Amino acid sequence: MIPAPDSWVTPCPPDRGGGLWVEPGGFHVDPTRPVDRAVITHGHSDHARPGHTHVLATPGTLSIMRARLGDGAGASQQPLPYHQPIQIGEVMVRFVPAGHVLGSAQVVMEWRGSRVVVSGDYKRRFDPTCAPFEPVPCDAFITEATFGLPVFRHPPVEGEIARLLHTLSVFPERTIVVGCYALGKCQRLIAELRRAGYDRPLYLHGAHLPLCALYQEQGVELGDLRPATVADASSMRGGIVLAPPSAMADKWLRRMPDPLPAYASGWMRVRARARQHGVELPLIVSDHADWDELCQTVKDVSPGELWVTHGSEEALVHWATTQGVKAKPLHLVGFGEEE
Ligand SMILES: [Zn+2]
Ligand SMILES: [Zn+2]
Repeated sequence: MIPAPDSWVTPCPPDRGGGLWVEPGGFHVDPTRPVDRAVITHGHSDHARPGHTHVLATPGTLSIMRARLGDGAGASQQPLPYHQPIQIGEVMVRFVPAGHVLGSAQVVMEWRGSRVVVSGDYKRRFDPTCAPFEPVPCDAFITEATFGLPVFRHPPVEGEIARLLHTLSVFPERTIVVGCYALGKCQRLIAELRRAGYDRPLYLHGAHLPLCALYQEQGVELGDLRPATVADASSMRGGIVLAPPSAMADKWLRRMPDPLPAYASGWMRVRARARQHGVELPLIVSDHADWDELCQTVKDVSPGELWVTHGSEEALVHWATTQGVKAKPLHLVGFGEEE
C-alpha cells in the first residue's frame, strides 16, 4: 500500500515549529520557529528564518541566508545542489528549481512510493537571475497562491521595463526611484533593464548593495552598480535608483533629486495600493505565479492532490476541484506578502 500524502507530510502548528512537518524524515520544511532539522526552499525572510540547528538548502539559498542572518543561518549548514538526491531519515529528498529567486527550490520528497512536492514560492516566467521552474509529477503538490485570483494576470515584464525607460526619457530632469524588494526583485529588474539595452550606471540604496554583490559573485551579470549617495545627486538626475519599499516613505526619498516614485510589485495591479503608497509609476512585476501560471502549473504537474499553503487559497482550491483534482487549503501561518 502506498501511503496517503497526508499520512506523512502535515502542516505544523507554530508552537511546534510551524511550516510543514515530515514525520518519517524527522524534518520541517520552511519552519517559522527554530527547529532541529530544517529544509529551506529559498532565502526570503518568511521561509528562511534564523536559529535552526541543521539547515539543508541549495548553495545559493545558504549563501543568501549567511548574508542576511549571519550566525543565525544555522549551526550546521548543508548545501545540496539541484537534482542531487539525499536520504534524510526514511525520506529521499532532492531540490528542483522553482524559478522564484536565486537558489530557490521545490522540495521533492519520496517515501514508500509516495511523492510529495513542496513548491515554496515560484513563477513560470523567464527570469535571467535564476534557474527556471521544472514541473515534477507527484501524488501531492503543495503550492502557494499569493496571486491566486483570476484578477491577477501579470503583464509581460518587457512591457513594464519599456514603460520605465519611456518615463525616464520623458522626464530627463527627474530621478526615478523604484521601490522593490532587496532579494530577487531588485536583481531581476536590473537584469531586465540590461536585457533591454540600458547600460548606464544604476544607483542602489545601501540596503540593496549586499545582495546585488552576492548575485554578481554567483555569476549573475548586473553591470555598473553604484551606491545612491546624496554626494552623487547630480549624476543620479535623469537616472534610475532602486530602493527597498521601506525607504519610499522616508526622508531618504526626498533627498534624491526631484524623485519620481515608482514601485515594482505584483500588487501594483491593484490601483488603490499604488495610490496608497504615493506611487506615480506602478510597475507590475512579480516573482510569484499569477492566476494563469498557477492553473497551468497544476495542469503540468498533474498531482493526485493539491494543497494550497498561503495567499488566496479558496479560489485555487475551487478551480482545481472543477478540474477533477482533489484540493484543500492548508492555512499555513507566517507566510506573507514579501512581494
Ligand atoms: Zn519568496
Ligand atoms: Zn513566501
